Amino acid sequence: AKKQGKNRYCYFEQSMIESFDWKISIEKELREAVENNLFYLMYQPIVDAMTGRFKYFEALIRIKDSNIPPNIFIPVAEETGLILKIGRWVMEEAMAQIKIWENMGLENRKISVNVSPMQIQDYELISFLRDELIKNNVDPADFEVEITESVLLENREHNIKVLENIKELGIKIALDDFGTGYSSLSYLTYIPVDKIKLDKSLKDRFLSLDNSQVIKGLISLCHGLDLKVVVEGVETLDESENLKIQNVDYLQGYYFSKPMKKEDATLYIENDIKK
Ligand code: C2E
Ligand code: CA
Ligand code: CA
Ligand code: CA
Repeated sequence: AKKQGKNRYCYFEQSMIESFDWKISIEKELREAVENNLFYLMYQPIVDAMTGRFKYFEALIRIKDSNIPPNIFIPVAEETGLILKIGRWVMEEAMAQIKIWENMGLENRKISVNVSPMQIQDYELISFLRDELIKNNVDPADFEVEITESVLLENREHNIKVLENIKELGIKIALDDFGTGYSSLSYLTYIPVDKIKLDKSLKDRFLSLDNSQVIKGLISLCHGLDLKVVVEGVETLDESENLKIQNVDYLQGYYFSKPMKKEDATLYIENDIKK
């Protein structure tokens, strides 16, 4: 039950995902997508919490005519090593898009891309990024990467060095999904990132329990460390208002916009939509 037509999400039971056959079929579809260039990017706006105005997009990968979502195929791509090729495509595509928007005279054209731990381990990542910035003539300030705390699990020292090298290229780094894993506060003092993205689950837990002091404390701690704070998965006006009071810097979520195809993302920038 993979292809069920557009806009119909099918069920992915945990047992199915873990089953060998299921993985093989996802891997097969992934390889086909890599060979035939069947990927595209969706763009979701991240807005300034204070003004509600558009700041930049996060790029989110999809497979054409497929119902398999990235939270299913990205782990398979990581297991099979296909993520290296896919990840390079994502970075190339995002830089090309930044250039397209720049050529259209659009000033807000920044894109943030997700980068897997295996890509951070890739010895060629830094030279790849440097070459792509030059080739596309892209300002590194228009490009950002999102990493997760799992880069601290193995080869920590090497990975931190790579993150420092990324920053030396002028590219900012966001720490994604904060609050989902080990999320120790201590590593915030030494991981070289510029921004923290608080996961939707953390926000749900602490806003709903009227436990907003936790979010507030976390945010002021981040600000004390000179880190910007994004909250993900904002779905209502209420949440948005609440988070604004907590001094969050940026907001992202369905309340502002779902991820969009590039044509709609272009219109979004052109109209400089304010929620
Ligand atoms: P993520 O990086 O945490 O991306 C945010 C996810 O939350 C996206 O799911 C987005 O569509 C969804 N989202 C945004 N706003 C809301 C909201 O208000 N409510 C809810 N319920 N969800 C919201 P998506 O696009 O399905 O991506 C899932 C995950 O797949 C991403 O989570 C990321 O970990 C991974 N991923 C996506 N694209 C890439 C990529 O190019 N490279 C890598 N390595 N991973 C990617
Ligand atoms: Ca992300
Ligand atoms: Ca996230
Ligand atoms: Ca997430």
